[in-house]
Amino acid sequence: MRGELRYEGKAKRVYATSDPGQYIVEYKDDATAFNGVKRAQIAGKGAINNAITARLYPRLEAAGIPTHFIRLLSPNQQLVRAVSIIPVEVIVRNVAAGSFSKRLGIAEGTPLPHPVIEYCYKSDALGDPLINTDTALSLGWASEGQLLKIRELALKVRHFLTPFFEQRGVRLIDFKLEFGTLEGGAVVLADEISPDTCRFWDAGTGEKLDKDRFRRDLGGVEDAYAEMLRRVLRED
Ligand code: UDP
Repeated sequence: MRGELRYEGKAKRVYATSDPGQYIVEYKDDATAFNGVKRAQIAGKGAINNAITARLYPRLEAAGIPTHFIRLLSPNQQLVRAVSIIPVEVIVRNVAAGSFSKRLGIAEGTPLPHPVIEYCYKSDALGDPLINTDTALSLGWASEGQLLKIRELALKVRHFLTPFFEQRGVRLIDFKLEFGTLEGGAVVLADEISPDTCRFWDAGTGEKLDKDRFRRDLGGVEDAYAEMLRRVLRED
């Protein structure tokens, strides 16, 4: 039974359940970019992102990454373990793109031979500013042990996802992860992994199959999301 609304973000709502250890996450079709300045609805996006996340998380669990995911409930809803979200967005990059390219003057598409992990403070009001782990530690957002765990898990996620997408004709350029803590402090992967939170380029054509189609007005947004769902659902 869905209980009271606990939190509403740009793309999801989180509801309580009769079990204090479990929440229901509802995925919305709303899309925002540039910190909410650009807004639209992308038809079917909520169900696609829910389905993609629900497909990936059990596989990540099987690869040794603890996550908040329990099970899919409906096209737009999934049941998750209740966590307290650490207010740090963890970005993992295989190839230069987006803000990394802009900040450092490195052409988009330049491969990064060593994975780059970046941390941002999850704050819409401040525009998710770049931070480092000392900032997170000093401001009490995570302990040293939790930060080490987050880095280890982020690299494990990359190790699983990069070949997973490669086998499906997709270059995984970069992605954003969020982590939460269970009661007792154990760190688990939370939030979604979807075309909203990753950059996916078709391996053959270089075509963008992610939210950059919306951010950059490239058209074909719904088709790109649907294509990514088809590829993710493809058997190994
Ligand atoms: N990203 C995200 N949420 C954010 C910021 C970034 O999911 O609030 C994802 C984004 O989709 C991309 C990766 O993190 O896959 C790196 O994004 P970047 O820092 O290049 O930011 P952008 O260029 O999107 O502003």
